[in-house]
Amino acid sequence: MFVDSHCHLNFPEYAQTLDQVRADMAEARVDKALCISTTLEEFPQVQALAGRYDNFWATVGVHPDNEGVQEPTVEDLVERSRLPRVVGIGETGLDYHRLGERSVADMAWQRERFRVHVRAARQTGLPLVIHTREASADTLAILQEEGEGQVRGVFHCFTETEAVARAALDLGFFISFSGILTFKNAVELREVARFVPLNRCLIETDSPYLAPTPHRGKTNSPAYVSLVARQLAAIKGCDEAEVGRVTTENFEQLFSLVRCS
Ligand SMILES: [Zn+2]
Ligand SMILES: [Zn+2]
Repeated sequence: MFVDSHCHLNFPEYAQTLDQVRADMAEARVDKALCISTTLEEFPQVQALAGRYDNFWATVGVHPDNEGVQEPTVEDLVERSRLPRVVGIGETGLDYHRLGERSVADMAWQRERFRVHVRAARQTGLPLVIHTREASADTLAILQEEGEGQVRGVFHCFTETEAVARAALDLGFFISFSGILTFKNAVELREVARFVPLNRCLIETDSPYLAPTPHRGKTNSPAYVSLVARQLAAIKGCDEAEVGRVTTENFEQLFSLVRCS
């Protein structure tokens, strides 16, 4: 009934608990999960998860926050994206939250890395999984410049404004909401979720991070995407089953799972 469109199940948090995680998913009627790469180094583990379990899929990409890791070329991404059960490019994007001593100008390497991912998405026709934090203007500008209307994808773990949501929707992208939607102080984000049409929404956990209320602060799990669905249903004034049905259709359409199953 539900899909977790973004999680990191290869992380060490799950080394001993994956069977339990999968049992909890079944119990919560979370049928599918997309396992997201954050480095090329970990990609083989992520792809192996998708190879081992027929309701997991994988992406290939290097997260904007990861420094001191292998820098991908377009060819690195394209080559890996052709492997079985790889259905997306990412996560990729821009993150100016952790600048430290640096200025936005110093983050040219991050923008170049993002451009490489957009080119790979154009070349393969695969959707992009976008991470953007305090960098929405540059993220949208690069998508427009490099994508030229030829790329699609999802803005994951959305925490931006309605104006940014509107711009992303105009580019043909989906918007994915995480457990943040359930946080008490996320009043504005719930307004944004009200604005985004359900047929352009995805839901996710970003496990192991960002466990929804009432599990906030603990290790997250794909099963808890049902709590995100419940919150989105309350915002939309429909039932959870409707949110599950539509967001699952959206997910399958975006990642073309029929082709790839
Ligand atoms: Zn992210
Ligand atoms: Zn992530």
